Amino acid sequence: MRTRKGFRIKSIVNALILLTVLATLVISAFIAYGSEKQSLTRMTFQLNKVYTDKISETVNNLFRNMMQSLDVTGEYLASDLKRSDLHEQLLLFQRSQASFNSVFIIDNQGRLVEGSNINSGDIGKLITTEGTKQALSEKRPLVSEPYISATTNKLIVMVSHPLTNSKGQYVGFIGGSIRLHETNIFQTLLGSALDQSNGSYAYVVSSSGNLLYHPDDSRIGEKVVGNEVIDDIMAGNSGSKRVVNSKGLDLLASYSYIQETGWGIVAQTPTEVVLSSSRMLVMKMVLYILPALMVFMVLIYWVIGKISDPLSKLSEFASKLSPNQSEGDELPRIHSLNYEANELHKAFGRAVRHFRYQFDSLSLEAQTDPLTGLFNRRTLDRFVKSWMHQEIAFSLMVMDLDNFKQVNDTYGHDKGDEVLRYLASSLPRLLGNNAICCRFGGEEFVVLIPNEQFDDAELAAERIRKYMAETNSPTGKPVTISIGVTHFPGFATDAEQLFRLADGALYRAKRLGRNRVETASEEEYGDKTS
Ligand code: GH3
Ligand code: MG
Ligand code: MG
Repeated sequence: MRTRKGFRIKSIVNALILLTVLATLVISAFIAYGSEKQSLTRMTFQLNKVYTDKISETVNNLFRNMMQSLDVTGEYLASDLKRSDLHEQLLLFQRSQASFNSVFIIDNQGRLVEGSNINSGDIGKLITTEGTKQALSEKRPLVSEPYISATTNKLIVMVSHPLTNSKGQYVGFIGGSIRLHETNIFQTLLGSALDQSNGSYAYVVSSSGNLLYHPDDSRIGEKVVGNEVIDDIMAGNSGSKRVVNSKGLDLLASYSYIQETGWGIVAQTPTEVVLSSSRMLVMKMVLYILPALMVFMVLIYWVIGKISDPLSKLSEFASKLSPNQSEGDELPRIHSLNYEANELHKAFGRAVRHFRYQFDSLSLEAQTDPLTGLFNRRTLDRFVKSWMHQEIAFSLMVMDLDNFKQVNDTYGHDKGDEVLRYLASSLPRLLGNNAICCRFGGEEFVVLIPNEQFDDAELAAERIRKYMAETNSPTGKPVTISIGVTHFPGFATDAEQLFRLADGALYRAKRLGRNRVETASEEEYGDKTS
């Protein structure tokens, strides 16, 4: 029903507002999420970067310091590698350098000369590890890649410094080892200062991509390939990147290159941490805004209702408007704040009044005879049909002025008209309000009286006849009238029959001398139907 008639203004406006509010909410949530994500990402990168920079600087200083200590101690010890307190000297040195798990000297042939932490049986042993080979061949300060120590079988990195004797000849090197699987400087440095509660962690990678420190102990020593961050570190760079790690975890990584060692330190935070806290923010925002929006919507709903209510009332009234509407159905009163509604209401009222006036005068014109103001023949037919249909009993009189042609001939047509009007005005007066009086045509009139006894109708007809016969018409003399009376239901079953009976009676009245009332008899009824 509603779709065929179109939607109500209230529904349309409310739907539009709901749509606008939802769209605004979604768009702001989207923007808030985006900007929060961006700023949290930037902040995470910055925090991680500050952390790795700081560690990198510390490690850098530490290694520079280690190298200097090795240099100074090495220079002192290189003067006499056969001294008896060599072991004590190295032990003393290792204790002063907490970073080293052990300190040792290897000669230019690759044989172990002495160490702080070795079995005496290992002295003189030929050492062929990667670190040793590299130190002997390059003869310069070095930090090695991780390798397995020959004496301890542990994964280590070695920091070494070449040794030269008083003559300036290369005699070997002094090295310090850092055991990667034991408590070492990385654990001491990286184990703190990074907020690990949100899944953040840090690791250290060598210049060849080997993991020197990782919170997952089993990965230490592993060579990492195909990681963008490590590739960048190996190229000597520092920075921040969003990466996916070997386990498929999406991470925000910041990394710093350690100049002294060529290593890199990486701190990373799961991207999901940032995303979920952005989502939380958006949820909170929506939760805070929603009640306000609801209140706002209810308010708008109410205002729209107020504005559209007069229009609804008017449209309801208009839909009920019909020519048969009674005067009682008045235009609804409205109290609107809305200017257009008020104007529309006024215009509508004017239009309805005009329309009713037009209709009333038109319908009056269509129903009445212009000369006398009585009902016309069409209206009479409607009454007869309707009453017959409703089985309302009524009397019917057909009247005809006697010798009216003469009246016209004697007094003129205008006087004749006056006589017609005179009779027309007398009829309702003589017959009462119930009577339906019509001018049937020419100087012939028909009167219907509902719910009247046949006898009473005869009396009423007689009253008219008598009045006309005894009262002077506008001609100055009486103009007599002949009347035929019949009744429904009685002798007739349809309108045509009923009129024939009345005409028959009228004809009889004329024939019997005029100025008479005749009633339709049963014989006539019999005559007409036989
Ligand atoms: P009767 O009915 O007694 O037999 O005689 P009558 O002279 O009335 O007969 P008839 O019906 O032949 O004449 C009717 C006359 O009524 C004819 C016509 O001039 C006149 N008439 C009809 N309509 C009007 C009208 O509207 N105004 C006037 N002034 N005269 C009309
Ligand atoms: Mg006539
Ligand atoms: Mg006549």
